[in-house]
Amino acid sequence: MRVRELLRRKKDIGRTDLVAIMAFVLATTSERIYMDPGRELAREALERIDQYVAERKKGRPLSYITRTREFFSEEFFVDERVLVPRPETELLVEEALRIMTERLAHKSGDKSEDRGLRILDMGTGSGIIGITLARHGAAAVTCVDISGDALLVARANAARLGVQDRIACVRSDLFAAINASMRFDIIVANLPYVSASEWEELMTDVKFEPKTALLGGTLGTEVYERFVGDLPSRLKEDGFVLCELGGTAQIEAMGDLMKGHGLRVDSKKDLAGRDRILIGSWKNLS
Ligand code: GLN
Repeated sequence: MRVRELLRRKKDIGRTDLVAIMAFVLATTSERIYMDPGRELAREALERIDQYVAERKKGRPLSYITRTREFFSEEFFVDERVLVPRPETELLVEEALRIMTERLAHKSGDKSEDRGLRILDMGTGSGIIGITLARHGAAAVTCVDISGDALLVARANAARLGVQDRIACVRSDLFAAINASMRFDIIVANLPYVSASEWEELMTDVKFEPKTALLGGTLGTEVYERFVGDLPSRLKEDGFVLCELGGTAQIEAMGDLMKGHGLRVDSKKDLAGRDRILIGSWKNLS
């Protein structure tokens, strides 16, 4: 059978997904599949395509099938051990990069040896945030996760993208295993924030993904509450914290908690106009 015939026959799966599965099985790109519709598919390839199409139809995320996901224009390895990177997390990275650039410009005036910023990525998962910051000039990033399995994926991605010497992976429940004397310039967090009721609703979509990466507790903000509680002693005097959250109510609740510790806060909306990123610092945020 040829590519064009398969495309005609399999109507019960989205075309983009089908082409991505074909490209994965044939170890090529989707563009090449589109460019060569006359390509003959061997029986073995067809069997594998059928199998992956069946998995996809059951809801298995495409990224777990193809073992990759693009984030901030880089290709990351992903599998069932980690959450599939979400596009909204790119906003967190954009904000962190903006702050990082400002801070680095500010630091270049000082004469100290170490001009690099100390960055911590809390709940790193596949490592997308910390690794992207390292790719964009962060000298030292500590990637933290409670899941040792997730850290294996983060390490693999750091090596794949050539920043393994800038990344330290630490298995820890929030700050528990992080040296208490270490303070950070920038702390980024994409911790679980889905509430128990949202989880019930989402379940069919996300049941393939690790529950610990998504479910934050009854309210959703329980893990973040613990995190914010520990923040004051971990953030440098001129440090910044950036958190991804699930909407206005969560942003307000966690913002109030930060304010209670004396932090100033600001928030950013995602492309859908939903409050998404909470930024905190001891200084005025403009
Ligand atoms: N945005 C994700 C979702 O709604 C949740 C990510 C998270 O909990 N950190 O599926």
